[in-house]
Amino acid sequence: MALAHSLFEGSFSVDASKKFIPFDPTIHRAIDRPSSMFIHVHPFLIETSDGLVLCDTGLGLTDLDGELLLHKNIKKLGYETKDVKYVLMSHLHKDHAGGMVSFEEGAGRIAFPDAEYMVQRGEWEDAYSGINKSYRTEIFDVVQRSGNLHLIEGDGIINKEIRYNLSGGHTQYHQTFHIETGEKNYFFGGDVLPKPEEIFQNYSAKYDFDGRRSRELRKDYWNEGAPNDWIYLFYHSKTIAIGIPELQNDGRYTIINIK
Ligand SMILES: [Zn+2]
Repeated sequence: MALAHSLFEGSFSVDASKKFIPFDPTIHRAIDRPSSMFIHVHPFLIETSDGLVLCDTGLGLTDLDGELLLHKNIKKLGYETKDVKYVLMSHLHKDHAGGMVSFEEGAGRIAFPDAEYMVQRGEWEDAYSGINKSYRTEIFDVVQRSGNLHLIEGDGIINKEIRYNLSGGHTQYHQTFHIETGEKNYFFGGDVLPKPEEIFQNYSAKYDFDGRRSRELRKDYWNEGAPNDWIYLFYHSKTIAIGIPELQNDGRYTIINIK
């Protein structure tokens, strides 16, 4: 039985305005979205002995009845949203933080009232100050008042199965997580390692706070994780969302889809 699930929220095109426009390849054409980047969004849900763990929360899109897609996708898998005990936030850009809260009937409420929201203190301060338009501060007002916010600093452990590392790279206070449960080691690299292809491309992204650091970290994550059977969770992947390393005949590792 799979213990980790993608809660795929959809695909989007994003242009210079930084708005996310839904993109469904069966309906829309890429050529009609000039100078856009295409982005795919996968929050992840992992079963642990202490309850469900959510890794990032998507854009916070809702269906026509105003229900969060995130909640619907969790229920579709047969779980209840109240069983989410930890919400692990790699960083707070709006495509990761939207589902921290829900705005049903106009009022903002915390989306997972039974969960602790684990956020790096520096990331929280940058996000709340509205340092750039990648953050949506109206979300953070709700989170701030909820009592569910748990600010963490640097590296540490949350419980015997979850640990966090201040990585920097994508944002100054971006963090990554390991969830070690049922003899599996899930690695959530957030936007430092958002796509499997980036493992094998030696480039640094200009939208990163520190692109060179992200690039070096990606190498470290692969060199350490591949021989140790880490299970990689790729938040923005078009192809493999949950991947495992596989040794090839030439002695190198590739990454394959887990089912
Ligand atoms: Zn980001």
